[in-house]
Amino acid sequence: MSVGVFDVAIVGGGTAGCAAALALRKRGMSVVLLEKGQCGAMASGTNFGGVRRQGRDFREMPLATRARAIWDRLPELVGEDCEFRATGHLKLARDAAEMAELERYARDARDHGLELSVVGGNAVRALYPWLGEAVTGASLCPDDGQANPRLVGPAFARAARAAGAEIREFAPVTHARWTGAGFEIDAGGATLRARLLVNVAGFWGGEVAAWFGEPVPIRPLCPNMVVTEPVPYVIDRSIGVCGGNVYVRQVERGNVIFGGGRGWGDTARAISRPRADVARDAMARTLAILPWLRDARIIRTWTGFDGEMPDDIPVIGPSRTTPGLIHAFGFSGHGFQLGPAIGEIVAELVADGRSASPLAPFAIARFAGAPPAPAPR
Ligand SMILES: Cc1cc2nc3c(=O)[nH]c(=O)nc-3n(C[C@H](O)[C@H](O)[C@H](O)COP(=O)(O)OP(=O)(O)OC[C@H]3O[C@@H](n4cnc5c(N)ncnc54)[C@H](O)[C@@H]3O)c2cc1C
Repeated sequence: MSVGVFDVAIVGGGTAGCAAALALRKRGMSVVLLEKGQCGAMASGTNFGGVRRQGRDFREMPLATRARAIWDRLPELVGEDCEFRATGHLKLARDAAEMAELERYARDARDHGLELSVVGGNAVRALYPWLGEAVTGASLCPDDGQANPRLVGPAFARAARAAGAEIREFAPVTHARWTGAGFEIDAGGATLRARLLVNVAGFWGGEVAAWFGEPVPIRPLCPNMVVTEPVPYVIDRSIGVCGGNVYVRQVERGNVIFGGGRGWGDTARAISRPRADVARDAMARTLAILPWLRDARIIRTWTGFDGEMPDDIPVIGPSRTTPGLIHAFGFSGHGFQLGPAIGEIVAELVADGRSASPLAPFAIARFAGAPPAPAPR
């Protein structure tokens, strides 16, 4: 059965795909978004909820700065704030070497338009009396923040649908091919046609790219997450540490969410599970910086799938083999913050053939000739 001809077909209904659908509709293009499950339920809905620029690879900074401006505009863009709060992001040092790292990053970040304030141990505990003795200093990015990941993808999906995009859930794309004049896409028992194709399939973006002769060395990344019962609201910043082996935030309802280490995932079946030993290690590191949390009860642990590239930055840009194919995947554990900007960037690439954001570091060509992905760790 062959149905439908669209300007653009989007494979993947994470935040990136749903934001792209909305941005493309705003440019008047006809759009179908194909999601194998429900929109915003994979990495975009299972992540920690950190909306931070601090600590980012500087190659991503122009994109992260663009995204940060959009986070403030969510109510006008998608009709709700998705619990985005600009609480600031506080990165902690636990020894002299980590303190030196914070100072070095803050110095370099200035060249990329990011102003951080670094304070030593005594000052940091005066400012944040809820931090434990293990903390020797911190660096604050005041306009970073946090949001509820469960809300963001679906909000973009609803806004895109209201703007006229066709959003098809439970419509797995099993294959897509270039016909010479556009794309044929097999999805949910139907074959659709589109002039242009957007690959925002998260970890599975590697599989989609391989259909077009562009294999990339992507690996699954399953950060291990934990949440406590509600406790009195104290932690009014989102927290990370040098090295990233633990990160913590508290929602206004009181629950404390923390992550660190990796869970388990079976990519073939799209099943991921948290690991108890990894959660216990993250708990110990959390208690070192927030000792008063020791009596809080854990109510849930989870993980999810992101795609991790060997150089820790995503693939964003046109295909090198197939005209009209745009990739944006492999966000390597930090694509939630970028998602709203990725939508705009994809729309620019589709409609104008170029983006206002600098994308050269993200070209898929950097993996030309790359062998298939090795077995998951
Ligand atoms: C546990 C965890 C914690 C994280 N914490 C943070 C954080 O604090 N801050 C941050 O910035 N980032 C974080 N990340 C990373 C961030 O969540 C991702 O980089 C981002 O959500 C990727 O969005 P996406 O839309 O590209 O992909 P996804 O949300 O993975 O969406 C891709 C979609 O494509 C669909 N799909 C795949 N193949 C097909 C197909 N063949 N047909 C149809 N649909 C298909 C999938 O079902 C999925 O819904 C975290 C990730 C995880 C897993």
